[in-house]
Amino acid sequence: MTKKCIYCKADITDDRSLDVCNQCGVGVWGQKMFNAILQNMENAKDNGDLCNSTVSSNEQPPAKLGNSRISFM
Ligand SMILES: [Zn+2]
Repeated sequence: MTKKCIYCKADITDDRSLDVCNQCGVGVWGQKMFNAILQNMENAKDNGDLCNSTVSSNEQPPAKLGNSRISFM
C-alpha cells in the first residue's frame, strides 16, 4: 500500500497518517509545525480515533463578559 504526497506526488514509504512528504510538509508548515502535526497524527493513531483527527485545533470560543450587569442603580 503506497501513498503519494498530495503536493509533489512522491511516494511515501513510511506508515504515517499524513499524505504529505517531509519536504513538502516542511515547505508548507515549517519544520517545527510539521513535526507537531506528525506527532498529533501518531497520537491519534495510537488512540484509534484517526477519522477524528484534523490539522486545526478545536478552540473554545471566548467566554462572554458583562452580561450580568444590565442596570446599574
Ligand atoms: Zn511532497
